[in-house]
Parts: sequence; C-alpha cells; structure tokens
Amino acid sequence: MDAINKIRNDFPILSRKVKGKQLVYLDNGATTQKPQQVIDTIEKYYAYENSNIHRGVHTLSQEATTKYEEARETVKSFIGAGKNEEIIFTKGTTDSINLIASSFGKKLLKKGDEIIISAMEHHSNIVPWQMICEEKEAVLKVIPINKKGELIMEALEKLVSPKTKLIAVNHISNTLGTINPIKKIIEIAHKNNALVLIDAAQSIAHTPLNVVDLDVDFLVFSGHKMFAPTGVGILYGKEALLNDLPPYQGGGDMIKEVTFEKTTYNCLPHKFEAGTPNIAGGIGLASAIDYIKKIGFDTILKQEKALLAYGTQELLTIDGLRIIGSADNKTSVISFVIDGIHPFDIGTIIDQLGIAVRTGHHCTQPLMNFFEIPGTIRASFAFYNTKEEVDILVKGLKRAINMLL
Ligand code: PMP
Repeated sequence: MDAINKIRNDFPILSRKVKGKQLVYLDNGATTQKPQQVIDTIEKYYAYENSNIHRGVHTLSQEATTKYEEARETVKSFIGAGKNEEIIFTKGTTDSINLIASSFGKKLLKKGDEIIISAMEHHSNIVPWQMICEEKEAVLKVIPINKKGELIMEALEKLVSPKTKLIAVNHISNTLGTINPIKKIIEIAHKNNALVLIDAAQSIAHTPLNVVDLDVDFLVFSGHKMFAPTGVGILYGKEALLNDLPPYQGGGDMIKEVTFEKTTYNCLPHKFEAGTPNIAGGIGLASAIDYIKKIGFDTILKQEKALLAYGTQELLTIDGLRIIGSADNKTSVISFVIDGIHPFDIGTIIDQLGIAVRTGHHCTQPLMNFFEIPGTIRASFAFYNTKEEVDILVKGLKRAINMLL
C-alpha cells in the first residue's frame, strides 16, 4: 500500500459509499474529514473525562482543565506564538473576526477612520467590518484584484493612509486558491501604523505558519478546516493588543470580580472566553494538530501541489471548462465554470456518482460579481486525495456535460 492510501485508512469516512459509489470527497475547503485519532480523543473525553473547567476543585474538573490548557499550549506552539495568553478559543473563524471587529471597533475606531479588506474575502471577513464601520461612521475600503485572481498590491499602497486603522485579508482565498502575500501586506500596514488581521481559515491545514515571523497582529482560523471538530476555532492576538481591547461578551469565566456596582475582568486569555467553552472541541483541535504534525507539512505540501498540477491539467482537457483563479501562487483549490451549464446542475449530477464538490458563490458574492458569474464548481483537495479521484471527477464531469448539453 502506498503512503497516501495508508493515510486514507486514518479517515473512516473515506471508505464509505455514497449513492452506491465510492465517496470521492473534494470539498475540503468547506470542511475537512476527521482522522480516527481525533474521533477517539473526543469519544474518550466524553466517555471518561467530561467535566466543566476552570471552576471545580474535584479531580475530573482539574483533569479537564489541564487537558484544555494543554490544548492551548499545543495551538500556541503550532503557530509559533510566544504565550498561551495570546491564544483565545472561539467558535471558529467567523466568531474570531466578529470578536475583533466588535472589540477593536468599539475601542479604537472613530468617525472617518478606515478599514481595508480585499475583493476576495469570505463574507465573514466583510460583513463584521461593514457592521462596525456603519456603527462608527468609519469607511471600508477594498483592495482590487486582477483577472487572474491576485491582489493588486500597487493599489493597496495607494489605499493605505494615516486614516487606515486595520487591514483584514485572507491568507488563501477559499474560492480561488490564491495565496496572498501576507508578509508584504503586514509590512505595508505596519509602515503606516495600521494593524493586520489575517484570516487563515484556508491556510492553517495546508502550510506552516509562524505568527512571530509574520509579525501579524491578529490571526484567526477554524478547527473544522484542519481535521478537528466544528464549533471550535482560534483567535491569536499580540498580548499587548489583546490586553488593550475590551471584552467581547460578558459572562462566567471572563470576570475577576462581580458586584452589582462594578465588574472587573479576568486576565488573558479568559477575558475573551465568556461561558463554558467547547471543551471537547479544544482538546480535539490539539489532537488534530498532533495528527498534522505526524503527517508533516512536507508530505502535505508535496501531495497537494501534485493534485493541483494534475487536477488543473486534466480539468482543462474538458471542452468549455474555464478555471476561475489562475494566480501564480496558488493552493490546491480549483474553481471552474462550464459553458452553458449552471454549477448546481453539475454538482447534483456528480453527487449521484459519489463525488462531493462545492457549487455556488462560496460565501464570496462580491468575487462572483467581479467575474460576472453566478457561481463556480469548486474542487478543493486535502493530502488524503489522490490522482485517481481527479480522474473520477473528470470522468464524472464529462458524463454530466453529455447529459446536460
Ligand atoms: N474565511 C474563509 C477564507 C473561509 O474559507 C471560511 C469558511 N469557508 C471562513 C472564513 C468562515 O469559517 P467558519 O465558517 O468556520 O467560521
């Protein structure tokens, strides 16, 4: 058995059938599948370790607290952060961005200030900024892109001004696969005294990241896109910045002392973690990180690069197929349209063949408007995908096209 097939055995779902056919799962941009190791960790937690954290003196509570805090430590090392205080557990990328937009916005945004995002953002890195800009009468500006789906960096240089308070961009576009030059963006922002939030939802499972090396101010991601459960995610923030921001939500755990007259807040990271968190999710996330480390980014990058090259080459053999997003620096996401056919129709037919792809606007409607298309068909690969699955996709697409045209 080759190395990839051995890896596939770690993911029980990959051996199931859909509509009587072997599942071909190519929707990793939406969510990744979970290895047995992560499933076992969560099962063990609920079967033998479940308890609330940070509150009880009893053994179970202390054990659960230790595991949860060890998980924080695992996340910290994985992204190269300096301190556990800089790692905030959230519900996911969307929750993390809303936290910063709300908290940062309340404290630091004034009338006429500017926030910069890009034309290829997911709705969750657009709408929270629109909401806070509306509230504070601040201005939202957008870095344009070219037809290849790359940021126009010269335009960014012109957009940044002394009024710019924060730049929020994704590292990798979920729709186009474009890898953005985040280090350069951070340099430009810092030269202009602006902060940077990086949405790493699509990069965290596909490329190593080091927040200190990047000198990024805030970095956010979701567990479920990196082989961990849904409902857990991370906000990394530089300690001094997080210390300076007001809490996002009030409740248990985030307080130091409560009286009816005044409440004082807990220290980091608890200040931003009101209420009982997703304890099993946090522990599951650490298990997923251990799994990624076991596979190794060398293997991940090699396999995903090969899938991108082979997938692009084979898809382009299909008449009338046009790839949306041809950036020079790209990850293993291939979005495409087929002349005369709506993406939903293709998606529905190939589902009958056991093939799972994403169809639609991928929560990037402004990007669809830019390319003047209603949506795309998106195949997004993980390291457990194979060239044989690319062949099945191409064959399935040809069959669907024959039926529809
Ligand atoms: N940003 C990007 C780039 C994404 O791909 C996604 C998920 N598709 C999100 C943000 C939102 O992530 P979540 O739904 O896990 O909060």
